[in-house]
Amino acid sequence: MRNTTIMINQAYQDNYQQLLTHDVYALRVREKHLALLPVIQALHQHHKAHSPAYSRLIKQHADDPATLEEMPFLAVRLFKQFALRSVPEDEVFRVLQSSGTSGQTPAKVFLDKATSARQSKALVKIMQNFIGKQRLPMLVIDAPSTVKSGALSARAAGIQGMAFFGRQTVFALNDDMSLNMEALESFQNAYGDQSVLVFGFTFMVWAYFLEALQAQRKSLSLSKGVLVHSGGWKKLVEKQVDNVSFKSAVSRLTGISRVHNFYGMAEQVGTVFVECEQGHLHVPVMAELIVRDPYTLEVCKTGEQGLLQVISAIPTSYPGFSLLTEDLGRVLGQDDCPCGRSGKYFEVLRRLPKTEVRGCSDTQVSP
Ligand SMILES: [Zn+2]
Repeated sequence: MRNTTIMINQAYQDNYQQLLTHDVYALRVREKHLALLPVIQALHQHHKAHSPAYSRLIKQHADDPATLEEMPFLAVRLFKQFALRSVPEDEVFRVLQSSGTSGQTPAKVFLDKATSARQSKALVKIMQNFIGKQRLPMLVIDAPSTVKSGALSARAAGIQGMAFFGRQTVFALNDDMSLNMEALESFQNAYGDQSVLVFGFTFMVWAYFLEALQAQRKSLSLSKGVLVHSGGWKKLVEKQVDNVSFKSAVSRLTGISRVHNFYGMAEQVGTVFVECEQGHLHVPVMAELIVRDPYTLEVCKTGEQGLLQVISAIPTSYPGFSLLTEDLGRVLGQDDCPCGRSGKYFEVLRRLPKTEVRGCSDTQVSP
């Protein structure tokens, strides 16, 4: 038994290292699947051997899925309901909690050192493609207390992950979430004429930064800056803010024209899907995105709307490498985005309303 385990891990490690030798957006979909499939197959075997819960959940599934589309997937909400681990408890070195909205249990994601290291490395490879290799003066659209609180929230983890790309980090908000105008002005005076990195969660950027600047009739001039933001549009849809009006407010109030949204989740930290200059979310080499019909779970064609399934080559400490999300979206194309990046590109449309989710969550694995 022990030998089998070592062999599985070795297959995974060799294939994963091989995958990382490619540039993040260099492979066309067909080539990418050839490189990614053995990694995902090894992960499937690994979690079957080490997570009894995973093994039970996928029991009815074909033993050796031959394509990424045939790979079983777990409903992402299972991580809210169960503690899913594929390593012994004493190897867990960090438990990541997703930001559950009020009344919801947050998801718990168990990380060991190897998974966590892979996450950081993947995030670096992906983000460097958009913001370059050098560390930039960084403005975080959040309060310092967010990263100081004890339990590691997804927001704190996101800020810590992005902090790798920054130096001389300044927080834009006070602990009561009001604008720290003094800090903003001194940041602008010091770095206003250079490349800077601005990072925050989408709703925070809108409600506590852009709206606050507007209300105080203030603006900044960070014309060489790049804004990276993430975290879902749900609250902004309620305010009728879409990506276009978001970007135009960013440009008007901060002078920043380079804005990259990214789609990602606490259950798959590291493999983020970043928006290119054309406004398309791109799939990196160590991940894949599949769109499925919410009712039949069949794979949708390009352009058809469905539930997003996300596949990540990273997690070995918890069985979250193939997840069916509650987000609706569609694939826009593959290998031909005018930005020059290969692979699939897609958009996220909205989250499935709660009532619909209930029906869907009965299906925890593919039929
Ligand atoms: Zn593109």
